[in-house]
Amino acid sequence: MPFKVWINGQLYDRENAKIGVYDHGLLYGDGVFEGMRIYGGKVFRLQEHLERLWHSAKAIWLEIPISLGEMAEAVNQTIRINGLEDGYVRLLVTRGAGTLGLDPNRTSDPQVIVIVDHIELYPKEYYRKGLEIVTVSTIRNHPAALSPRIKSLNYLNNILAKIEGQQAGCVEALMLNHKGEIAECTGDNIFLVADGELRTPPIDAGILEGITRAVVMELAEEAGMRVRELPLTKHDVYIADECFLTGSAAEVVPVVKVDSRQIGNGRPGPITQQLLQRFHEVTRQ
Ligand code: PMP
Repeated sequence: MPFKVWINGQLYDRENAKIGVYDHGLLYGDGVFEGMRIYGGKVFRLQEHLERLWHSAKAIWLEIPISLGEMAEAVNQTIRINGLEDGYVRLLVTRGAGTLGLDPNRTSDPQVIVIVDHIELYPKEYYRKGLEIVTVSTIRNHPAALSPRIKSLNYLNNILAKIEGQQAGCVEALMLNHKGEIAECTGDNIFLVADGELRTPPIDAGILEGITRAVVMELAEEAGMRVRELPLTKHDVYIADECFLTGSAAEVVPVVKVDSRQIGNGRPGPITQQLLQRFHEVTRQ
């Protein structure tokens, strides 16, 4: 049975879950969103996701018409009603309906939407054998133009990079920032293992502050590993011992080839596997 969608406090069947064509979310990508995982009927790190949503909204001068507590309740209610034990939640807030002009002051009724669904996972084989990715020419949005820390409804930057990656035969694409440093993939953060330590680009490399990224950094520190956020180049990726990606949907996925170059011995490395294992333990406890 298709899942019911929560819009502004009402539940709708999927075919009736609609918003207007004048909504600035559609007209201009004017809105924010979150993607979260449900494990055992509960959202993993719900509070962190809601805080990021509120920060994204604040950064674009969008006032979310309900409180953070009400949003948490809406998410939990939608999961409960749909009887979902394991899955994915998409949370959206649009600017609302306005005129065909840009003026946000002429919009009203922001749409708050909660969609739950089954999770579309990467095939199991990717976790066992590792992914091949490629760096693409589409750079991450310049942080001074539009901060990549905002999880906005306009993902064109990432979509263009994804298309380039797909054209090169890869399911994920690695994006650089305006300085030519490693930023992140189209929907995942990136980590390297080198000299026994974990390395990942800092937030000011122009990336989304991934919640899975933060969890993995905590897990690595708990395991006694040194974790460093530092500017990284393609060279650092090519000579790394291990590489992996993190994201709510992908969780922790090993990378074994970048730009046709083998990473480490071409198989998911021991630290990646250890962190993947720990991540499974904390999410499925
Ligand atoms: N970077 C980008 C561009 C993303 O869209 C996402 C989320 N899909 C991530 C990183 C990973 O973030 P999180 O771990 O919070 O899902």
